[in-house]
Amino acid sequence: MRTRKFAVALALCATMLSSRLAGSQATPSPKAMPSPSAGHHDRPPQEVFRVKPLSGNVYALYGRGGNVGFFIGPDAVLVIDSEFKDIAPGIVAEIKKVSDKPIKFLLNTHHHGDHVGGNEVFKQFAMIVAHDNVRKRMLSSPADILRDYPARLESAKKAGNEQMAKFLADQIEWAKKVRVEEIAAPIMTFDSGLRIHMGDETIQVWHLPPAHTDGDSVVYFEKAKVLHMGDDFFNRVIPFIDIQGGGSVGGYLMALDIVTARIASEVAIIPGHGEISDLSGLKSFRQYIVDLMDAAQKAKSAGKSKEDFVKEVELPAYKSFEGYPDRFRGNASAAYDEAR
Ligand SMILES: [Zn+2]
Repeated sequence: MRTRKFAVALALCATMLSSRLAGSQATPSPKAMPSPSAGHHDRPPQEVFRVKPLSGNVYALYGRGGNVGFFIGPDAVLVIDSEFKDIAPGIVAEIKKVSDKPIKFLLNTHHHGDHVGGNEVFKQFAMIVAHDNVRKRMLSSPADILRDYPARLESAKKAGNEQMAKFLADQIEWAKKVRVEEIAAPIMTFDSGLRIHMGDETIQVWHLPPAHTDGDSVVYFEKAKVLHMGDDFFNRVIPFIDIQGGGSVGGYLMALDIVTARIASEVAIIPGHGEISDLSGLKSFRQYIVDLMDAAQKAKSAGKSKEDFVKEVELPAYKSFEGYPDRFRGNASAAYDEAR
């Protein structure tokens, strides 16, 4: 359990190191990952992966990065998210233990490197599908890195943060070398949503209002009543809200309300990070967003400066959530900006 928590924290750290990880993690370079993950490379796969069968041939797979979901259809397997390049072969091996049917589809819930990093492995045999903005953000990643990272590299060097400096330098090197056509972006994209029909299961893919990013989708297995939320749901984990990636605190509320209105009450929910949950877990996460926005609203109405609010605000009810020390103040800053 400890190890698992550590793994999640590292994946999130990786995500937070850059809000534009798409290309950086979907890179041909094995050095694309920041060094904190190195310890996991040495671990045997049985300690990295955990497979949990849910209803109707849907499975959750915990590894290192955003939680994976997969569905065994009558003729083929559909997978949701691909974590990182280095462990994608392990994901494929875990799926093969459950079914020898070919993996034909990979859905990406959004563009972050801990969800699309394994695309390079999957693209050899699977059709990669995602919202338009996932492709856009993945393909613009080298240009974005070359525009933004040199200044960040200088700041990291000045601050003596060697690990960050190395990560940023590696990313810049990657961005200089990579050809955009090499990036394993989705080749089939959609605007508002689509349905995939496999046997008697209908898999609904819904694009939602900007929340975690502006390319978020969730995946609902109608018959199995299983929902994969991507990073629109962090279960008992403080979310990363990628404002630079088009995300929005208020958008999270809209997205969660749309989803809640469409799903069965007995749904099983795979969050982007954290353990499998249900409707009450999703509602608890919504309450965190509500409480965060209320605190920001009150502070702003009372004339408190953003600086003071971000420094002083605490939400004690959520202090036990993983990532509170790392991400809560970032959430607070975003909520203050959005408060009116
Ligand atoms: Zn994410």
